[in-house]
Amino acid sequence: MQTKLPEDIIFTSKGQRAEEIIKSCVHCGFCLATCPTYQLTGNELDSPRGRIYLIKSALEGNGFDQTSIQHLDKCLTCRACESTCPSGVDYGELVDIGREFVDVKRVWWQKLFRTSVRLTLTSPKLFNIFGRLFRHSSIKTPQIKPNKVESRILLLAGCVQPSLAPNINHVTKNVLAKLNIAVVETKQTECCGALEQHLSAQDIALVRIKTNINNWHAMLETTNPESKIEAIISNASGCGVMVKDYPTLFEPDEPYFAKAKIVSEKTKDIAEYLSEKDLSPLKPKNTKLSYHAPCTLQHGQKLPGLVEGLLEKLGYDVAPITDSHLCCGSAGTYSIFQPKMAKKLRDNKIQYLSESKPNVIVTANIGCLMHLSQGTKIPVKHWIELLDN
Ligand code: SF4
Ligand code: SF4
Repeated sequence: MQTKLPEDIIFTSKGQRAEEIIKSCVHCGFCLATCPTYQLTGNELDSPRGRIYLIKSALEGNGFDQTSIQHLDKCLTCRACESTCPSGVDYGELVDIGREFVDVKRVWWQKLFRTSVRLTLTSPKLFNIFGRLFRHSSIKTPQIKPNKVESRILLLAGCVQPSLAPNINHVTKNVLAKLNIAVVETKQTECCGALEQHLSAQDIALVRIKTNINNWHAMLETTNPESKIEAIISNASGCGVMVKDYPTLFEPDEPYFAKAKIVSEKTKDIAEYLSEKDLSPLKPKNTKLSYHAPCTLQHGQKLPGLVEGLLEKLGYDVAPITDSHLCCGSAGTYSIFQPKMAKKLRDNKIQYLSESKPNVIVTANIGCLMHLSQGTKIPVKHWIELLDN
């Protein structure tokens, strides 16, 4: 798409990046077939191509009203369109730039609501009060220590996961201990910045992200074998994709870029990390399961089939799922701001996940886990929890 961005935008780094991304779109429309919101509404403005037009129009100064904001808000940022796009359009990055640009035009009550949700979810003291009320699962087994420490990793504890489902980090540590890997856990305050980044609070996100980069880079590069970490491990794919995307937030000549690249390259999803290990010390018990692939893992981190492959390697029968590329409707804070669309997407997803009559549904992200569990009586777990026996 050709663009004519005004000088005050084109001379900013975000303006230049937006122009590059918009120009890379050849408006072929392939992405429409895999966009969950376009599938539900049939409206071009709820498709990736339509939204790229809306962002282009806003940046060019051609007017942008409340209806246009609603079409951008309806986007799940699932990035299924990126997986389909033959031209490699970085849609996720563009929609963040577009949302930040149009945010000033939001009505006051929307701004207040969005800010309240963001502050609650990213303030551990506040969230822990609410989080306990919605707790999904508690710790079920004793904590194991490694017999001998062969390596050490940093586990991204997450800002909401410790309150909502503390068993996930607990089991992750147990599984790693059985492989003689010691775990250092990030503090709850060390949020990856994803919530702020996607809720148009990029400046606040950047402060948090720079602090994380400094802390984690020091742990990766230290020469002290007692505190050196081999990798940064995420067991919530929404956090993992954010950390892997850190370098896109800096210009190549900025001092933070090189450090962000090292942090990003050393960050792995727990399934990615375990796929490279000898898993014979683990004794999985087979059960009939179906797996929901989070968008942040299959489209964001570009790791489709990763967890399914690992579970099959461990001896599980993983049922094939219809439309496994589609979002479940959780999408970070989407289910809070767009409850009707989120429910429709969840109902469809639950129907497909239930077709094989599984004993358990597993996933790889706390947001998907919480959202799906509200729509079914079948137990929903993080897949790592299957391995705690
Ligand atoms: S598939 Fe890619 S190039 Fe084609 S319209 Fe969609 S975003 Fe543009
Ligand atoms: S990110 Fe998802 S919802 Fe948004 S335009 Fe792309 S496919 Fe559609």
